[in-house]
Amino acid sequence: MTHQIINGKIIAAELRASIKKQTAERLSQGLAKPGLAVILVGENPASEVYVRNKCAACEEVGFYSLSKSFSHGVTEQELLELIADLNNNSAINGILVQLPLPEHIDEEKIIEAIDPLKDVDGFHPYNVGRLALRMPVLRSCTPKGIMTLLKSTSIPLEGKEAVVIGASNIVGRPISFELLMARCTVTTCHSRTVNVKEHVQRADIVVAAVGIPGFVKGDWIKPGAIVIDVGINRLESGKLAGDIDFDAVSERANWITPVPGGVGPMTIASLLENTLQAAQLQSQ
Ligand code: NAD
Repeated sequence: MTHQIINGKIIAAELRASIKKQTAERLSQGLAKPGLAVILVGENPASEVYVRNKCAACEEVGFYSLSKSFSHGVTEQELLELIADLNNNSAINGILVQLPLPEHIDEEKIIEAIDPLKDVDGFHPYNVGRLALRMPVLRSCTPKGIMTLLKSTSIPLEGKEAVVIGASNIVGRPISFELLMARCTVTTCHSRTVNVKEHVQRADIVVAAVGIPGFVKGDWIKPGAIVIDVGINRLESGKLAGDIDFDAVSERANWITPVPGGVGPMTIASLLENTLQAAQLQSQ
């Protein structure tokens, strides 16, 4: 079977171009630039790269961005005070706390302190709850990006069997809600699922978010399936690998996302989309 690549790099670039245009239109109407604040704690090189990329993406589309960096020893109270200030700062429409946080800081407390209408990561229980109830406001970035990729195939999702592998708060659970909202029949597999392969074999849509390189094998895939690989795993060789065995899976899948260049670029593009949406919500 010939497979088609869902090219996240191109789709994300188109999305960023559209956001840039909408931002310019806002400015021409006398509205302020959408503003994003990114909070970074500690000296995690991967997090530093993510924060730099997010700020660079803001600049590219004409947003205002502000990054606040703290040493590992920052207290929870100091972070809560900063979030309270940013919640009241009208130049800031979106607040993002780069996770993970050091152990002495309660992540849930920090996320819940963010004004839900500025929660551009879509992690606040308000936004997750709204999504679960089919009334989404700000939707989690990676799952939202996956839905944009699925939409790009023009394949109707309604009634499809979707199997998600992974049940984390940032990917597995919210993408399961997204697919349910798109009227798929959804199965969510996790580390205690018995026989993941059997579930995947009946799937029209597979979303792999496990964090284990090459976890999904070629013979698990129903011929013609759409396969979305969320995994980003750094191999010993330094190469990036996804959660699916790309070569074997692409023999059977009809549509497939590569790693890198699939879901990855969509996450930041969705963050920009959310920041623009937050600015629109706040100027209503
Ligand atoms: P996580 O570790 O929080 O969750 C992994 C999930 O996989 C858990 O629910 C666990 O129960 C499940 N799991 C583990 N072993 C399993 C098994 N043998 N069978 C079935 N399920 C199993 O990870 P996460 O944060 O959800 O991320 C998953 C992957 O996606 C990672 O590689 C991460 O780097 C990547 N990721 C990519 C993006 C992106 O922008 N592309 C964003 C977030 C995460």
